[in-house]
Amino acid sequence: MVNAIPAAVELIKKARHAVAFSGAGISTASGIPDFRSPESGLWERYSPGEVASYQAFKQTPSHFYDWIRPLFLRAQEAEPNPAHRSLAALQDMGYLQEIITQNIDGLQQKAGAKDVIELHGSASTATCPNCRTQYSTDEIMALYIQKQSIPHCSLCRSVIKPDVVLFDELLPENAWHEANTAVEKADLVIVVGSSLSVYPANMLPAAAHRNGAKIIINSLAPTENDGIADVLLREGCEFVLPQIVAILES
Ligand code: ZN
Repeated sequence: MVNAIPAAVELIKKARHAVAFSGAGISTASGIPDFRSPESGLWERYSPGEVASYQAFKQTPSHFYDWIRPLFLRAQEAEPNPAHRSLAALQDMGYLQEIITQNIDGLQQKAGAKDVIELHGSASTATCPNCRTQYSTDEIMALYIQKQSIPHCSLCRSVIKPDVVLFDELLPENAWHEANTAVEKADLVIVVGSSLSVYPANMLPAAAHRNGAKIIINSLAPTENDGIADVLLREGCEFVLPQIVAILES
């Protein structure tokens, strides 16, 4: 483990097409909880099945909005941390192509990254499920936070749904297609802050590995795919990634 960072740097230097795959762990240093995790503190009042599903959103939108409000407030206030900025820096230096993320917080883009593929949607927009009119989340959440009023579509009066993928929803088709295309081209996948436990997103690094890509996993906790990693980095990504960038810059 002593030489893990230099080994990761060597793989990054050799790669022709590197793709990053990030999960909740990259944003915890920015104060964003993993909304799918029981440890997030978001499940104290409601269980996931009660609120974080499309069915629950349709049945009791007030519970859904009660639940999602703290998450949105935190996402709005959060700032990118050194891990987000390091991935953006690797892109700028030409060492990294696409960034596939399971996060909905937009922090990777806020750090200046390009080609971010959001597998679980985005907290920044919301869409009317009926007529597909799109709204900015700031607009609809401001109304909700000030007046506790559930946001309705101005065209068809349906309840508007934030563009985040809920437990019983499929991944957005475009994002899933783009992520698979990126992974097919990749000869290196850098997994950052994901436990690789959420299906089907977690299949992507394994698919890259089967295609012969090298795999770097940077996660504090063991992941379900540690067995396929060429390099394992067991420290917080907000500490590890800046060190990698510093070596590549020197
Ligand atoms: Zn509508």
